[in-house]
Amino acid sequence: MAESYLEWMLKVLKEAVELGGFPEEVYKYLSKPDRILIVKIPVRMDDGRLEIFEGYRVQHNNALGPYKGGIRFHPEVTLETDMALALGMTLKNSLAGIPYGGGKGAVRVDPKKLSKRELEQLSRGYARAIAPLIGDQIDIPAPDVNTNPQIMAWMVDEYSKLKGYNVPGVFTAKPPELWGNPVRIYSTGFGAVVAAKEAAERWLGGFEGKTIAIHGFGNAGQYAALWATKWGAKVVAISDTSGSVYDPEGIDVELAMKVKNETRKVINYPKGQKFPGDSDVPLYVDADILIPAAIENVITAENVDKVKAKLIVEAANGPTTPDAEKKLYERKDFVAVVPDILANAGGVIMSYLEWVENLQWYFWDEEETRNKLAAIMKRNFHRTADRWEKLKSEKDFIVTMRDAAFVLAVERVYTAMKLRGWL
Ligand code: NAD
Repeated sequence: MAESYLEWMLKVLKEAVELGGFPEEVYKYLSKPDRILIVKIPVRMDDGRLEIFEGYRVQHNNALGPYKGGIRFHPEVTLETDMALALGMTLKNSLAGIPYGGGKGAVRVDPKKLSKRELEQLSRGYARAIAPLIGDQIDIPAPDVNTNPQIMAWMVDEYSKLKGYNVPGVFTAKPPELWGNPVRIYSTGFGAVVAAKEAAERWLGGFEGKTIAIHGFGNAGQYAALWATKWGAKVVAISDTSGSVYDPEGIDVELAMKVKNETRKVINYPKGQKFPGDSDVPLYVDADILIPAAIENVITAENVDKVKAKLIVEAANGPTTPDAEKKLYERKDFVAVVPDILANAGGVIMSYLEWVENLQWYFWDEEETRNKLAAIMKRNFHRTADRWEKLKSEKDFIVTMRDAAFVLAVERVYTAMKLRGWL
């Protein structure tokens, strides 16, 4: 049987503990969450039926600060996946250098089958069910797959009603009009490009004029493309499920975004070479930097030999399989895979900034927020790159940048736990 996501996460944790030379107790401690809440959410459906949904909130570790992580609405979620995701959040938040532990929530539901009223009732019901265990100093959820700012607005309203006063900082990624921040919509793509820019300046002699291919043109991909162009790079290939567009002269990203958002298909972009039905062209074109921004497992042992980019910056979660990654690092001209845990942390870092605003009831303007986000991403990138270079010089086997990121992530949680006397 294929290994589960939880088994895979535990393996990653174990390897990081070993590579970093941390005591085995760190693995023992972090392999189990602090607390698991299983809730039932009764919803009166539009046709009069009573439906009972099951939900979870896993609080993994709070050594560094309140538990933090998204809420997923999906028909296939399980408690085990939620536990793996919560562990992942502890490590991601640790690497991000923000004062958060890790948590994750989920409701087993296919939200596409719900009316707007049913979705609101479910969201409010879930917020009520987990209310005893969350709080702006305790556990701070946010959106994940199939949840969004409107759902956060319903949840923050429900929680505030229970408390009897407004508690804006208990959920993040709220609409900008309700205690949210306008940077949030582009924070992941923007953050990935900050990482790409820093990597190119550190290892490729600069970012301006570099060619970029982007696989996936949704939220993360579009804003990565937009900020890459604003900072002087040239986006030469983009794709979505409708196919790919390639233009070595450079794609007009704003026009591509307009076309994608109006017609839902990148392939309707009016210029360049088109490849209808072939979504993978950006993976293989001649470009300095490849940004996978669609789904997991797109660069595999089977196709990795066709990848020409020297630098891969993972905006998507898990786009490069471990076998493929190994092969990339064996290639002489290959520089690095900037791993997802580092490259796509812009969203959670933005959540942190929003929470800080909420706690103070004081809001920065868009540019100030963006600069703060960029500074944190930049610091994290170089901290990881420094550690990677050090580890590489010490070991006689291939150490990836991902390995270095996990070592740093474990180190920060471990240090906090040790200082607190937990280990
Ligand atoms: P999205 O749904 O907005 O966009 C996904 C895009 O990928 C769509 O354009 C879709 O057509 C395209 N796509 C799907 N399958 C494809 C394929 N096989 N080939 C080419 N294109 C394909 O999603 P998103 O929010 O942009 O997320 C994309 C990735 O980034 C996911 O892995 C997600 O987990 C990760 N991520 C996103 C955020 C965020 O804040 N949006 C944060 C962290 C990580």
